[in-house]
Amino acid sequence: MKIAVVGAGALGSLIGARLAQAGPKVVMVDANPAVVDAINRRGLHLAADGVESQVSVGASSARDLHAPQDLLIVLTKGWQTEAAITGCRHLLHDGTYVLTFQNGLGNADVLARHADPARIAIGMTNWAADLHAPGHVACIGHGEIRIWHAQGHDDARVRAFADVLDGAGLHCRVDPGVEAVIWEKVAFNAAMNSIAAISLRSVGEIGDDADARTLAYTVALEVLSVARAKSLAVDDARVRTMLDDAFRAHRAHRPSMLQDVLAGRRTEIETINGAVVAAGAPLGLTIPATETLLRLVRMQERRAAGDTARSATTNNS
Ligand code: NAD
Repeated sequence: MKIAVVGAGALGSLIGARLAQAGPKVVMVDANPAVVDAINRRGLHLAADGVESQVSVGASSARDLHAPQDLLIVLTKGWQTEAAITGCRHLLHDGTYVLTFQNGLGNADVLARHADPARIAIGMTNWAADLHAPGHVACIGHGEIRIWHAQGHDDARVRAFADVLDGAGLHCRVDPGVEAVIWEKVAFNAAMNSIAAISLRSVGEIGDDADARTLAYTVALEVLSVARAKSLAVDDARVRTMLDDAFRAHRAHRPSMLQDVLAGRRTEIETINGAVVAAGAPLGLTIPATETLLRLVRMQERRAAGDTARSATTNNS
């Protein structure tokens, strides 16, 4: 089986390293030449469970890769999905499947505009990874992956891909209820990521602050109310436990949205809080805390973009 991991960042490097260690033929695809170069020179370096491994795997830009693939696993940031799949269209052949277990909502819809909707799978993962340098990733704790066909039916190939991911030690299984699980993760991310990005606090600091903690529970419940209005069997108690576990066990962790804001990068706010607000509107649901955080993070992004533009002007003058 030939697998291309599209997006060789934190999560892609973890998934690519585990798959390559297990045997399938894996290639890492990335738009950043420095990432491609680092992986081609040294492979992937994975730190997990106190063990450091060097994994031999090749990397390429999409443009320089020609062999059709059996599976593309798209693991870019949500706002990069469109460019990622359009760049990889020539790698799709009659049997190629595309799988996403990115955070947020709407990634499968973007993929379906450019790949055959009959061969798209969606999923959720709670594996967590931190990128220390291009090709150098640390896995934080343990997680699992759940996947299912994006059109909601049972599919033998999706089951086969789940077996491959599971065989790589990634604890993967098929789950017909994956959409509810995706929304539960979105509820977690909408709360934790946007509050961290606005308050500039780590997960533990949010948990310790009564106002931040209450706001996190409020946002999560708002998101779950939209999911429930869409007839998804989400579980409020499970998401509260996810938040409480993170407050306790991942105290020092800085969610990616906080890291992005601090680095002046675009965040995933549109595919997380933004997508939930958009899903609630036609159902007549207003979710004020989630929407307020959406607007505040957008303001941060615009300020960062302005700073970048200003510093470019200053440097050019
Ligand atoms: P990341 O920013 O570390 O990696 C994204 C990679 O995609 C980068 O290397 C970037 O160069 C590459 N990329 C950008 N545009 C591309 C294109 N057009 N073609 C090919 N590659 C392109 O992001 P991440 O933290 O790995 O997150 C990826 C997704 O997984 C996000 O949706 C995130 O929310 C989700 N996720 C991340 C984690 C985690 O622990 N990092 C856990 C669960 C889910």
